[in-house]
Amino acid sequence: MIEVERLNILHQYGILDTPHEEPFERIAALARLIFDTPIVLISLLDDNRQWFKSNIGLDLRETEREHAICNETIRSDDVLVIADTRQDSRTARNPFVIGNPYVAFYAGAPLVTSEKARLGSLCLMDREPRHFDERQMAILQSLAALVMREMELRRQIDQDWLTGATSRMAFHGTLERLVERMAPPSIGLLSFDIDHFKQINDRFGHMAGDRVLIEVVDVCRGVLRDGDVISRMGGEEFAVLLPGATAKSAFAVAERLRQAIEGSRRPEVDGAVTASFGVTMLDKSDQGLADPLRRADEALYRSKANGRNRVTCSWAMPAEIPGGVGRMRKGS
Ligand code: GH3
Ligand code: MG
Ligand code: MG
Repeated sequence: MIEVERLNILHQYGILDTPHEEPFERIAALARLIFDTPIVLISLLDDNRQWFKSNIGLDLRETEREHAICNETIRSDDVLVIADTRQDSRTARNPFVIGNPYVAFYAGAPLVTSEKARLGSLCLMDREPRHFDERQMAILQSLAALVMREMELRRQIDQDWLTGATSRMAFHGTLERLVERMAPPSIGLLSFDIDHFKQINDRFGHMAGDRVLIEVVDVCRGVLRDGDVISRMGGEEFAVLLPGATAKSAFAVAERLRQAIEGSRRPEVDGAVTASFGVTMLDKSDQGLADPLRRADEALYRSKANGRNRVTCSWAMPAEIPGGVGRMRKGS
């Protein structure tokens, strides 16, 4: 598998730069107990770095990729054992061997996805050379398979199974991280709901309804920028986070999404599908997503009440936006 493809798959897991998580800590701690090595790492090989989901016995979350012994581990599906790293040509000059943390023993099992991408490894390190037998290798490989399983579950929880949009749960986490990173945060939040979706299901069947949901997300992705996040909040209701948006641009994005949804033809449901939007800006006093989602939903209900297929903002109509509350005229 070529490296770009491997990186692409790794990034789909959305796991890089996330905090420690209990299931991974548990597996690493178990490896520590079983093998009694001072260092246990769950290492993922990113473009230019190795990043540790778990790092027992090492006070680092990442290192340069260049010196990662795991580069060797991901060359095959087998466990790599280097009984004495100081005597092995692959590692004898490695800075982690000749310097801190003075690794003398290494054993790593690759983390292999169902697509056969090797994302990194579950690895053990000791400051003394060690013997590592077949049975220990089999245990390490099983623990690596458990890490991979946790990563798969994590990916499934983070994504809506039907549309691939971010799940409601992951949406909350994403927002928390955005708010931490941006000071002062300027984030737009859109909420939208497909109009008369029950009729679409009733007339054309649930399968056709499902296809509409998938297509609506695809159409939105075509409009949104990298960094924007679209989430399926449930049923035919969606939310979008717009990092770096102003009130004016958040409204404009909502209007573009509304037009793109209306404009995409769907022969299988006999014409256009439309959606109603609510727009709000995150406020410093907001605690989590509950308050801003409520404001966006209230604005969305006003869009529904005023005839659907329109965008409504949670704030008083801004003078600079023509038709700020309610539907924007085409071409305005
Ligand atoms: P409104 O314009 O007021 O939003 O009307 P609506 O018909 O869209 O709203 P309502 O809440 O009455 O109906 C939503 C429908 O969405 C009902 C439910 O069966 C359908 N639905 C929810 N989840 C799914 C899904 O995953 N697939 C399909 N095909 N339909 C779904
Ligand atoms: Mg609806
Ligand atoms: Mg609804």
